[in-house]
Amino acid sequence: MSNTDILMTAPMMPVVVDALDKAFTLHRLWEHEDRERFLSEIGPRIRGVATSTLFGRMDATLFEPLPNLEIVSSFGVGYDNVDVAEAAKRNVIVTNTPDVLNDEVADLTLGLLLATLRKIPQADRYLREGRWLKAPFPLSPTLRERKVGIVGLGRIGKAIAKRLEGFDVSIAYHGRTQQEGVTYTYHPTLTGMAEACDVLIVITPGGAGTRHLINADVLKALGPNGVLINVARGSVVDEQALIEALKSGTILTAGLDVYEDEPRVPQELIDLEHVVLLPHIASGSVHTRNAMGQLVADNLIAWFNGKGPLTPVSETPYPGSKS
Ligand code: NDP
Repeated sequence: MSNTDILMTAPMMPVVVDALDKAFTLHRLWEHEDRERFLSEIGPRIRGVATSTLFGRMDATLFEPLPNLEIVSSFGVGYDNVDVAEAAKRNVIVTNTPDVLNDEVADLTLGLLLATLRKIPQADRYLREGRWLKAPFPLSPTLRERKVGIVGLGRIGKAIAKRLEGFDVSIAYHGRTQQEGVTYTYHPTLTGMAEACDVLIVITPGGAGTRHLINADVLKALGPNGVLINVARGSVVDEQALIEALKSGTILTAGLDVYEDEPRVPQELIDLEHVVLLPHIASGSVHTRNAMGQLVADNLIAWFNGKGPLTPVSETPYPGSKS
């Protein structure tokens, strides 16, 4: 344990807590009932924060009592839980956990796509309820001959595309820029890609820049045979427009891992038997969550050993931060 004071905003996995307890003086924010008083006493000593997309937002109000903060190490590749503009203004570096979860999230996405099309959860319920004894399970839609459009062909989008190649479907993508050396069909507009495809897989970052990217117009363009898979962030899809589109048959079905107001999921979605709903589990294996947790700790350890951050986010590049 060193004299460097680190603040953890909410409970995290043992791999993070144990590594930080060993390397630093670790303070647990949630253990202090009078949070204001604790922050006014300890805040000026805090030089690093460990936080998570899953719990504990790092917004502007939490930067204020930490005038000597140098680094925020966030669990998750998405970091819409951290006010990065505020961090950049204060020369605080922000790190995330990219790459170590690409394969896990891509695997889950293919699982969700197949589960949605072939109605795997519904078939499981059918058997358990004893209904197979009375009649065979109804035939399902298929992945065969589908055209899949990936919204956000980044690190995870590419891992999804690689897996899709094995399924012999046509693959297209949409992003703000066409990528060199990528052979999948590029669509400069999202509506154009939705018109040309009958599956959309959404895997962009969340936040203001992608809010409600998937709206009523995109869903209409996707059409009555269309399938929406969202493994990005709930904010990327206009959830009310999606519910309307699912109810009216504007699109065929959807598989969702993320929601606008997690963990609250609209009852209207829950009531739709043909939709597959997962509780934000795309990276959620023991193996991958441990790798993500290790990277949270390693970023802080590298920084306070003077080696710089391992995985700084683009809004707070290194060098350019306090140390
Ligand atoms: P990357 O930064 O590697 O890729 C993001 C991609 O999104 C880029 O190709 C980018 O392309 C595209 N993009 C960004 N903004 C827009 C926009 N406005 N319109 C269209 N495309 C856009 O990120 P990762 O692949 O590592 O991760 C992607 C996201 O997946 C994370 O930020 C997180 O939100 C989500 N995620 C969800 C998980 C879950 O548990 N469900 C687990 C892990 C990640 P371009 O710049 O050309 O627009």
